Amino acid sequence: MDKLRYKNKTLKEQKIMAVIVAKFGGTSVADIKRIESAADKIKKEVEAGNQVAVVVSAMSGVTNKLVDYCSEISPMHDVREYDTVVSSGEQITAGLMAMALQKIGISARSWLGWQIPIKTNNVHGKARIEHIDTAEIKKRLDINEVVVIPGFQGITEQRRISTLGRGGSDTSAVAVAAALNADRCDIYTDVDGVYTADPRIVSNARKLHKVSYEEMLELASLGSKVLQTRSVEMGAKSNVPIQVLSSFGEFIGSDRKGTLVTKEEDIVEQEVVSGIAHQKDEAKITVIGVEDVPGVAAKLFKPLADAAINVDMIVQNISQDGLTDMTFTVPRTDLERAKKVLKENIDLKYEDIAITENVAKVSVVGIGMKSHAGVANTMFSTLAEKGINIQVISTSEIKISVLIEQDYTELAVRSLHAAYGLEDQQKIM
Ligand code: ADP
Ligand code: ASP
Ligand code: MG
Repeated sequence: MDKLRYKNKTLKEQKIMAVIVAKFGGTSVADIKRIESAADKIKKEVEAGNQVAVVVSAMSGVTNKLVDYCSEISPMHDVREYDTVVSSGEQITAGLMAMALQKIGISARSWLGWQIPIKTNNVHGKARIEHIDTAEIKKRLDINEVVVIPGFQGITEQRRISTLGRGGSDTSAVAVAAALNADRCDIYTDVDGVYTADPRIVSNARKLHKVSYEEMLELASLGSKVLQTRSVEMGAKSNVPIQVLSSFGEFIGSDRKGTLVTKEEDIVEQEVVSGIAHQKDEAKITVIGVEDVPGVAAKLFKPLADAAINVDMIVQNISQDGLTDMTFTVPRTDLERAKKVLKENIDLKYEDIAITENVAKVSVVGIGMKSHAGVANTMFSTLAEKGINIQVISTSEIKISVLIEQDYTELAVRSLHAAYGLEDQQKIM
């Protein structure tokens, strides 16, 4: 929709034109009562004159159960059939949401991924959206019908159902918002915004009113699962304002009480550190005694990449007698596959492989880091004071990450949160 065309309209007319995508996560549609409560919020948006597309997750726990079914049949199940199974949770919620809306007098219809269609590449289990046909959605919105879309699912060129990776309904929502050139994408969840740290770990974490796409991208990719990383990437690319808000409170998206993820220049007060993220369940692999010659890293990491294993932090030790050690981390869920690839597919001589399973990554993120020194030092000295050993360090322009023993995750997050003065002052008093 062309936003410029509102220019000469009255405020009321402008309001009528707002196109909103509202996504409800698993806990927000956990049972019929929650679905009805979500439908009430949509009704309020519609009555305020907005056109609304709703994207729904599976009811909480459902996707996990479906994943377990697949693993029970075989850990090496066919990933195309995995997608057929795990995409079904969202289908149930979409139908129920359309019914709940109809029950309260709102015209609504569900549209599955293949019916729209939402086209993805054919990387089953982790597919990327390539194109969304908006013709039908727009037609329906124009006659004031609410369009209900199951998140997480799409269709490949081979006409097979695909899914977007865990947490992928966020990405479906932002992608639909981008395709519709919507005014906003509201992500309703079980917290009322993006906080300076996971509020379940840091009870006095502070809610951010605005956060830049860049910072949110780091926070999400470093473990703050409040938004799937790809949804933030897509929001940034297509400039869709994303609002994270609670489905449990009284507010609706148009009240603007959540956290807005937006462009850096829209944020007046930039913080040096805006948040602490953590990611548990990492594993550290050290390949000991590899030859220190050109091409070693390529020989080591290419087979891992080919096996779609997400290698994260990488360090190469100082070489001694022409030999060196390479250390890197992978998600623990990928560890068995990584070991298999290292044993069977790499054309590289090494002395041994050492594995540490119980590690976690803790990261400090902030745009202000670009221009402030001392952030890393505060991090290292805080962890040292608490006796927490740092195993690996990695940095970028706006983040510092450290790998530590998993048991110290909460202590590290809380201590760093306090060290950077991120607390909500009202919650301390
Ligand atoms: P949904 O089912 O709605 O998609 P998720 O469980 O995926 O919800 O994401 C919401 C959760 O993200 C919250 O319950 C919270 O524990 C977690 N979270 C992690 N880091 C943050 C953060 N910085 N701010 C807010 N929530 C966070
Ligand atoms: N239901 C899917 C999951 O649990 C997608 C989502 O909820 O975002 O990962
Ligand atoms: Mg989620």
